Amino acid sequence: MVVVLRPSPDKEKLDSLILWLQSKNISIHQVVGESKVILGLIGDTSKLDIDMLHALDIVEDVKRVKEPYKEANRQFHPEDTVIKVANTQIGGGSLTMMAGPCSVESEEQIVGIAKAVKEAGATILRGGSFKPRTSPYSFQGLGAEGIELLKIARKETGLPIITEIMEISQLPLFDDIDVIQVGTRNMQNFNLLKELGKQKKPIMLKRGMSATYEELLMSAEYIMSEGNENVILCERGIRTFETYTRNTLDLAAIPVLKKLSHFPIIIDPSHATGKSALVGDLAFAAIAAGADGVMVEVHNDPAKAWCDGAQSITPDTFRGIAKRIIALHEFMKTL
Ligand code: PEP
Ligand code: MN
Repeated sequence: MVVVLRPSPDKEKLDSLILWLQSKNISIHQVVGESKVILGLIGDTSKLDIDMLHALDIVEDVKRVKEPYKEANRQFHPEDTVIKVANTQIGGGSLTMMAGPCSVESEEQIVGIAKAVKEAGATILRGGSFKPRTSPYSFQGLGAEGIELLKIARKETGLPIITEIMEISQLPLFDDIDVIQVGTRNMQNFNLLKELGKQKKPIMLKRGMSATYEELLMSAEYIMSEGNENVILCERGIRTFETYTRNTLDLAAIPVLKKLSHFPIIIDPSHATGKSALVGDLAFAAIAAGADGVMVEVHNDPAKAWCDGAQSITPDTFRGIAKRIIALHEFMKTL
């Protein structure tokens, strides 16, 4: 249930309303927006008398929230979530370009790519150190060493870093990481999500390859319900009957998730297509559909990449695509 308060509510009346609700075992998520204060009520609200709440003079409106996700719900939080990451921000009209290799391979590789993507306009460096691979015989990532190499690349370029966590035991290694990525295969690793909810760090939650919007938002709710509001959603393609592309990019996710929730949305056209030649066009489509940014795999030598070479673009190609993304993002603001 959502209780919208009248502007500048009387503090004593508000405190006594909150105390009364708490006495009914309802927890309150208070959102102070630019023009309104909203109380998001979490718990069993079925026995609350809506008419009685309506009658209070500090209350403007009361709405039942039928969706199972509450803190992730746009009704609880009408304003867009904007996340500060080092010297950049995600959401709130900013353009986020995350770029870098699928996996960190060496210092020379990650630093070289970091410099190139930064020069082209990237705002965040990506690179996997713990890789969830379909085959146990494939390269599994450099692990802790890869994390150290990402930090070197950050120091060299000033770009904040995002990298994927696969399990709770790896958390101490992520202390100094700017954004933690939860991959498609772990979207419903609820214990991991709860632990990440206890952090203050931004978490980018990738949509499970067969997950519905509601399931994705329930996973975001796991993180938020533990106290971490810094959630970014990422659509990276879903499984369909089509096999030409690695996955199918669900562009509808952008307007739908923006309507249902308040999180910034990033599109990953690399994993969505599996084909480097398609990355640019889908990135442009994502920006035109209102995404807050993209995550793109870039490799200095895609043919020799240890992971996901077929979908990786070169720094040169990235430069051309980034230029058009920036122009398109500016143009969208004028419409
Ligand atoms: C990745 O970003 O490297 C990755 C493994 O992505 P996903 O979880 O979307 O497959
Ligand atoms: Mn990859």
